Amino acid sequence: MVRANPEPEWDYEGEVLVRRRRVGPLDNAAYVVACPSTRAAILIDAADEVDRLVDAIGDLNLVAVLETHGHADHWQALAAIEARYDRAWVGAHADDLAMFPPPPPTHHFEHGEEIAFGSCRLRVLHTPGHTPGSVCFLGPGMVFTGDTLFPGGPGNTQTPLGDFPTILRSIRTQLMGLDQATIVYPGHGGSTTIGAEVAAFAQWEKRGW
Ligand SMILES: [Zn+2]
Ligand SMILES: [Zn+2]
Repeated sequence: MVRANPEPEWDYEGEVLVRRRRVGPLDNAAYVVACPSTRAAILIDAADEVDRLVDAIGDLNLVAVLETHGHADHWQALAAIEARYDRAWVGAHADDLAMFPPPPPTHHFEHGEEIAFGSCRLRVLHTPGHTPGSVCFLGPGMVFTGDTLFPGGPGNTQTPLGDFPTILRSIRTQLMGLDQATIVYPGHGGSTTIGAEVAAFAQWEKRGW
């Protein structure tokens, strides 16, 4: 059978499948992460351009939308995604709930919590600093870092709720100890690895941002 719409390409294929869409005016990176054997999937950050996110989800079974933090550029498409996938739950850390439009996400992440989709798992890491409720999601060989860690350093903390010593502590205690080959998928732009970033930690500390 010839499919009318062939499945979009994957950006990563391993124990989980990852599809990235770079959306919106701030080049947000949203990720569909799928479990190969069950076709269950989660969406990390319903950032923007809902039609492109829907295309990336395709015929996967979306079980949850995981928000890395509460900044508005990370949830522009959230209401539209919730309306379309009404069986998918939406999660965010309680410390960022006030930043979401009503109704706020109803599932509140705990540090260390395992998020199941099909037979696959992601683990929640609470990594405050960019915002109080920023979280990362650790998967097999990868970590989705939101605005906590980018190629070149930590996310912006020059904001009312940001705190530079806190983001450094989060990176040091939660991310630096991961395997050096772990792929870092940030909330904006392209990817990097833990090994490529942690070597510069002392420089970030010294420069102060
Ligand atoms: Zn942010
Ligand atoms: Zn952002």
